[in-house]
Amino acid sequence: MALIVNPPVSGKILLHSCCAPCSGAVLECMVQNGLHPTVFFSNSNIVPPGEYGLRRSELRRYCEYLGVEAVDDEYDHAAWLSSVRGLENEPERGARCSACFRFRLLRSARYAAAHGFAVLTTTLASSRWKDLEQVNEAGEQACAMVAEELRAGILRPDSAAFPDNGPLMPASAHEASSSVSAPVFWPMNWRKGGLQPRRGEIIREQNFYNQTWCGCEFSRRE
Ligand code: SF4
Repeated sequence: MALIVNPPVSGKILLHSCCAPCSGAVLECMVQNGLHPTVFFSNSNIVPPGEYGLRRSELRRYCEYLGVEAVDDEYDHAAWLSSVRGLENEPERGARCSACFRFRLLRSARYAAAHGFAVLTTTLASSRWKDLEQVNEAGEQACAMVAEELRAGILRPDSAAFPDNGPLMPASAHEASSSVSAPVFWPMNWRKGGLQPRRGEIIREQNFYNQTWCGCEFSRRE
């Protein structure tokens, strides 16, 4: 086994996954540790739609290979663009990427809360092109925001409505459910313990499509 990993609390784990290459070693490690995450593909940053579909289907293929459950979020690139408005010219690892991480991890944290997941983690920092601290900060913020939304009664978990009709339905304060809680973010460094080289091996073994840009139109331009 490459690495022994322990989630911060017990309970169901939601793994936000950005693509198959970044998820390969993370998922293998989790399964080897007896963890059974649900993979959540929430990546409205990716353009064009054909590229989005290709990354999603490669991840699906790997989840099926490992016998791991996979869920797709709604694709809403217009909403993602709104979340990074004014930050278009930021460099990679800058403020635009922080907003992008927050957007995707907030949707993931909402889904986790609505579906009884105790832990949220992400593959976003498994690539050496990403800043681990920046990703972890966004994950912590996303979980804190969902905790606050639930506390304030702004959101009502509605499994039937998610992910097709939006992350959570608006609700008045008296409708808020006290039995639902925000997930705990797991700020795991998924590059250590040999996972970085294993990442490359799995890409070759599985013959994954391996993109050359991060995902959004601005990263493509860069
Ligand atoms: S470069 Fe990547 S992380 Fe940064 S905003 Fe674009 S898609 Fe998001």
